[in-house]
Amino acid sequence: MGTDSPPAVVAPEAPTLPPLHELTVAPGGDTVRPVSMPLIDRLASAVVTAAPPILVALGMWLGWNHGLLVWQDLLVLALFYMVIGSGITVGFHRLLTHRSFKTSRLLRAGFAALGSAAAEGPVIDWVATHRKHHQFSDESGDPHSPHLDDRHGWRGEIWGFWHAHLGWVFSDMEVADEQRYAKDLLADPWIRFVDRTFVLWVVAGLAAAFGVGVALTGTVTGGLTAMLWGGAARIFFMHHATFSINSVCHYFGRADYDTGDESRNVFWLAIPTWGESWHNNHHAFPTSFRHGMQRWQIDPSAAIIRALELTGLAWDVVRIDPTRRDGKLLPAQHL
Ligand SMILES: [Zn+2]
Ligand SMILES: [Zn+2]
Repeated sequence: MGTDSPPAVVAPEAPTLPPLHELTVAPGGDTVRPVSMPLIDRLASAVVTAAPPILVALGMWLGWNHGLLVWQDLLVLALFYMVIGSGITVGFHRLLTHRSFKTSRLLRAGFAALGSAAAEGPVIDWVATHRKHHQFSDESGDPHSPHLDDRHGWRGEIWGFWHAHLGWVFSDMEVADEQRYAKDLLADPWIRFVDRTFVLWVVAGLAAAFGVGVALTGTVTGGLTAMLWGGAARIFFMHHATFSINSVCHYFGRADYDTGDESRNVFWLAIPTWGESWHNNHHAFPTSFRHGMQRWQIDPSAAIIRALELTGLAWDVVRIDPTRRDGKLLPAQHL
């Protein structure tokens, strides 16, 4: 045995990040490059959006007719919804898309893996699409605006809403060029790994629900129904909570800030969307770690980031100066 102490392990430096605007505007100003969606992606989207509601219906049928719905299933559903939901809201959205705070490489990758389990697509694709949404917000080039349909009257309204909610998932316009919109994430080998292994994290989320179900009930049947509710139903509810940000929160609700787009704050979605439905606030101040700007605007994702900050796991948390914030209020909102 040697007496030399092992070399100290030095954590690799996080890649130096260019400013966000450099990621979204190409040299020469060509900002909209059409990209077509491969058939395999279209099919995968169809399966991932159609299978969960079918499985939810199956779960309800089993519950009502065969008594195969127990409190443990609902507990797993609630727990997994909150934890994996945070992977999307805190991880994919506030950390990776908008850089509202900094954290360790390990936690960045952990959040990316957690969000991947939500089956909303690989992390780099998700981030690129969302940055493109912020760049074009309700203008041509926005992947999921409810306001760009050519049809007029009520048909246009319904089609626009449908496109913003779910139709965009199958549309070529949805595809955002990752080289342009997510260069920083492509340069991070940990995030690239999580992106490439996306399916693995979806399966891991389902397997974990099964495992917790077995642990809580002591039966394989309990594991299977927990997987149905904590897996398929959780994916279904979370998909539609996320989609509601794109549809409902660009259509209904209240605009407090001057953003130049149709983003709205929708209070009744604050809990199911984990604080993301203060969407007009978010468009006004995209990098703010807090989307709920007023005390009463519930924002569980911000509470999680604050807790990470207090425990030293998050730093450089982005806060908006109150004077700058209030200066953006629409005239009607000034009290
Ligand atoms: Zn938006
Ligand atoms: Zn955003």
